[in-house]
Amino acid sequence: MNTPPVTDAAIFDTLRKVFGFREFRPNQERVVRAILDKRDVFAVMPTGGGKSLCYQLPALLLPGICMVISPLIALMKDQVDGARANGIRAAFLNSSQSGEERDQVMRDLYAHNLDLLYVAPERFTLDHFRQTLARLPISMAVIDEAHCVSEWGHDFRPDYLSLSALVTIFPDLPVAAFTATATNRVQQDILDKLALRTPLVVRASFDRPNLLYDVRFKDSVEAQIAALVKSNPGKAGIVYRTSRKSVNDTAAMLRSKGFRALPYHAGLSDADRKSNQEAFIRDEVDIIVATIAFGMGIDKSNIRYVIHADLPKSIENYYQETGRAGRDGEPAQCTLLFAQGDIPKVRFFIDAMPDDTERAKALGALAKVVAFAGNSVCRRRTLLDYFGESYPHDNCNSCDICLGTRDLVDCTREAQMLLSAMVRTEERFGATHIVDIVTGSANKKIRDFGHDRLKTYGVGKERDKKYWRQLIDELLAHKVIEKSEGLYPTLYLLPKALQLLKGEERIEIVRVLEKKKAKTAEASSAASANPELFELLRALRKQIADEQGIPPYIVFSDRTLNDMASLSPRDAESMLAVSGVGEVKLERYGRQFLRLIDRFCSDKR
Ligand code: ADP
Ligand code: ZN
Repeated sequence: MNTPPVTDAAIFDTLRKVFGFREFRPNQERVVRAILDKRDVFAVMPTGGGKSLCYQLPALLLPGICMVISPLIALMKDQVDGARANGIRAAFLNSSQSGEERDQVMRDLYAHNLDLLYVAPERFTLDHFRQTLARLPISMAVIDEAHCVSEWGHDFRPDYLSLSALVTIFPDLPVAAFTATATNRVQQDILDKLALRTPLVVRASFDRPNLLYDVRFKDSVEAQIAALVKSNPGKAGIVYRTSRKSVNDTAAMLRSKGFRALPYHAGLSDADRKSNQEAFIRDEVDIIVATIAFGMGIDKSNIRYVIHADLPKSIENYYQETGRAGRDGEPAQCTLLFAQGDIPKVRFFIDAMPDDTERAKALGALAKVVAFAGNSVCRRRTLLDYFGESYPHDNCNSCDICLGTRDLVDCTREAQMLLSAMVRTEERFGATHIVDIVTGSANKKIRDFGHDRLKTYGVGKERDKKYWRQLIDELLAHKVIEKSEGLYPTLYLLPKALQLLKGEERIEIVRVLEKKKAKTAEASSAASANPELFELLRALRKQIADEQGIPPYIVFSDRTLNDMASLSPRDAESMLAVSGVGEVKLERYGRQFLRLIDRFCSDKR
């Protein structure tokens, strides 16, 4: 089939009229043009990079149906809702549908009434589906979440391996694979398995410039979570915890303080999990407290903060989980609460792993996370480094290190007190006992060992135990002291400790400056130029979404509402200038939003 080449005007017209955007995001145009030239594509783009547009736009310009293979049923529905909201003729075929619904989709396919068809990989492996495909005018094939093809990826799906057949089934059609996760090793593996034909390979930067990374000392975890949630009133956020119990406890704690929060973990029934997730997606609750199992199946673009209250398993996981924030490109905050004391808990699980290589892999991953959280290098630089990318700037201006929200304090004298207590007790005791000595606790163990007669007994009693525990964590992280293995670990000195004791070395540790912190949080939440109008627009969005049974962010993204609030469009033409408002959305929602803005503006006069 020979089709005339697609003109530049057609490309940009579609971008503007259907999607409501005047410009491409980085790399989108190259991918779009390659597909239009019938070339295979392999694109690694971060979450929020705008992958959908890369294939939806060519799907509209190439005659026929674009088949998208997508691993998660929930995501499929979201993608279809999102595409339809822009007036794209899209549908999915999967096991969640009734026979009748599937028949309707089949009829639409044969009547050439669809531009986009989403299917699960399982379906693609079915013979009768392949026969159906042969009778349909397919224009291109897309593999979404392509890392599922790789055994090195974090969510490998065996049925994805069948996708290597795509290039033989469609010898003349472009095949485009997209993923947001790919270390170089995963990338090579995907390319090998899919056998793409001299594809355009695009590797976008993994930097998520709108995310603020922030690592804080974890001391009173629940109070810290509550404070963070409180500083983001009414905004959507995820709190990640490792155990089901802590998920339940934290969710209950937040609810008791009046926040709208729900739990999500594998211990809940399918129905509960589903309804909690739905409530979050529809902006009915603001916070989901979850184990890492949460987030895979959602495209919610207006998540404004992610809190890791426990240590993530790997940098990869951390990047994925924080990556769920700010998909719409608006500012979002990622906070990791880190305590040295969390490490043994994770190690405990790792030690129980039966497989030697798996265990070694997990240990290596843990060490990298600990280094990420514990060192004083720009967080963004460290994350990008992990993906083999070097960050080109000295200061990212958007992480706790670069913002200087951490202050270095000299604590040499205090460190000497601890070290001296260890020396005087012959390095035979653990952290708790050493802290008891320094703070002058009068417990039985202290008296039994006669440690109340030591010179260091009580020298640090003006500070609380938490302070001393934290300082021990720091000394461990700075490799001044080490902890023995075993059930009752004791602390012993490393060479640096002797230099510290002699005063030849000093030690500075970072201290969180809560005041400055508050300022950055405000700065990011004050992103809206007209918060009052934004809130009204948001309420209208929610009302429309409920009426139509779709998630609010599919009506308009937070970015679009912000843009609308600051431009205050008064007519259809200026409404079209708002990013994310295309012709179909203007027609569907324009009048209601214009009326609201009009009323708001006349009230203000
Ligand atoms: P991904 O699948 O890569 O995570 P999406 O396709 O969901 O990303 O897009 C993320 C957000 O970016 C969506 O809200 C989308 O509307 C928006 N977006 C995509 N392309 C553009 C563009 N060219 N200009 C402005 N916003 C865009
Ligand atoms: Zn930084």
